[in-house]
Amino acid sequence: MKIRQYHVSLAPDIILNRPELLANIREAGVSRVWICTFFYGHWPYELEMLTRAKTVVEKLGMKTGAILIPLGHPGDSLGSSQGGFPLSPPRNWKLGTGSDGKTYSGTSLHAPAIEENVAAIKVIRKLGFDLMFVDDVFRLSPSPGRIGGCFCDEHRARFLSATGGTDADWQQLLQDVSSRRDTSLLRKWAVFTCDDLTTAFRAMRKAGPHLGNMVMYLGSEKAGIRLADYAGAPLRVGELMFDNNSFGRVKGKTDELFSALFHRRYVKPDHAYSETTAYPSSSLSAQNMCAKLSVSTITDVRNTMFMSGLTPFPLEHWRTLAPAMKKQAQLHEQVAGHKPEGPFKHYWGEPSRYVGNDQPYSLFLACGVPFEVSSRINRDGWTFLSDADTASEPHLNDHCIARPNAAKRGNVTVNEDLDDLFAFRRTLIGKPDGIPIGTPYIVEETPAVLAWYPGANCCLVWNVNTEAKNLTVAVGDRRIPVSVASLDTELVKL
Ligand SMILES: [Zn+2]
Repeated sequence: MKIRQYHVSLAPDIILNRPELLANIREAGVSRVWICTFFYGHWPYELEMLTRAKTVVEKLGMKTGAILIPLGHPGDSLGSSQGGFPLSPPRNWKLGTGSDGKTYSGTSLHAPAIEENVAAIKVIRKLGFDLMFVDDVFRLSPSPGRIGGCFCDEHRARFLSATGGTDADWQQLLQDVSSRRDTSLLRKWAVFTCDDLTTAFRAMRKAGPHLGNMVMYLGSEKAGIRLADYAGAPLRVGELMFDNNSFGRVKGKTDELFSALFHRRYVKPDHAYSETTAYPSSSLSAQNMCAKLSVSTITDVRNTMFMSGLTPFPLEHWRTLAPAMKKQAQLHEQVAGHKPEGPFKHYWGEPSRYVGNDQPYSLFLACGVPFEVSSRINRDGWTFLSDADTASEPHLNDHCIARPNAAKRGNVTVNEDLDDLFAFRRTLIGKPDGIPIGTPYIVEETPAVLAWYPGANCCLVWNVNTEAKNLTVAVGDRRIPVSVASLDTELVKL
């Protein structure tokens, strides 16, 4: 089996009505089509239609899987072209309540949501689907960066009873949430919320053993997602830059890479899926979609999941995507199973996960210096910290890099912009206590991602600029030239 697999998610009516699209998808190298089935209490498509769509895909030699949207989005995140498509759960499903007392639909857990999802999974299995994914509305926060959990009367009573808390504790919790204070009370709330979501997932997984979880961008405990609980299940790493505006910026690309690196701590490469999403469906160019493929290659995410809600992205995209998919698959073969290593450290601590605003310090990833993922604060190398981690981590040292606004004793501050990061880099290259001799880096002060795989004796160089670049990789005294097309990736053997 090929290391890199390509998948696409489609609505059943698209599968049945767009044979030319399916032919293009197959030709490009997609091996599995995921069909949208159950939507938060609704079956918008007849079961017989789901079966027909499944048969059509399989007759073309591709495999199938099913996607459930278990809890509903807080707004329209599906982009249905059909009028009357249900955008929220039925009336007998309760709304979620935020810490501000405002209600929202979707992304909360009350009866009968799980019972209905378990029943739906049984139906989907009877239709012959084996692999299934819950979409990223399987979370207990309306959006990334928001401290979730449902603050309705029912959840309040359950939480206070489970923890022996009082009304005063509840008021304190609301204050801790609103000021993002990382207290033991807030942590108890996160545990309570995570327990709820994990219990729900386990009940659903009992009905469908090959159920995977699509985690949202930087999804973690504050949204009820205790990542370690999903070990062994397929996991989609969270991404966010779904249009040209957000992904077009260098920082958009490094944020995306940052989230994928974080989630890969919790999933094996062959169980990892990307969130290669365009939303609305035509707002991400084919070139940017190709660039997103590099994020998965660098992070050893072996399954690319193309998504765009219920409306497929433009057919012409596949002409540009097909050769890029083949190239990334070849690159992936050479780095698969190897971890990026380097002196710059990617770190996402518990304060970020419990109370942070999901704004990572990520731009260091584009400084042409190799990096590695760490689950602790290091003394060697340089660890880049979010504001929440800077504020709450107890053991900072002078190799911790923070944004100036978050400065704290014991750390170094560097603005998260490329000029300042390259100036900082100048203090490290060729210096006795700087970047170790023999560590590869890109000579030019041009934004580019250099991922170093010592086990494979090579680097991947991802050009994050919209124009081609002639770059130089330095290793000790050697200088290795590499030309990289706009947004493309090249492998450099060392
Ligand atoms: Zn509730």
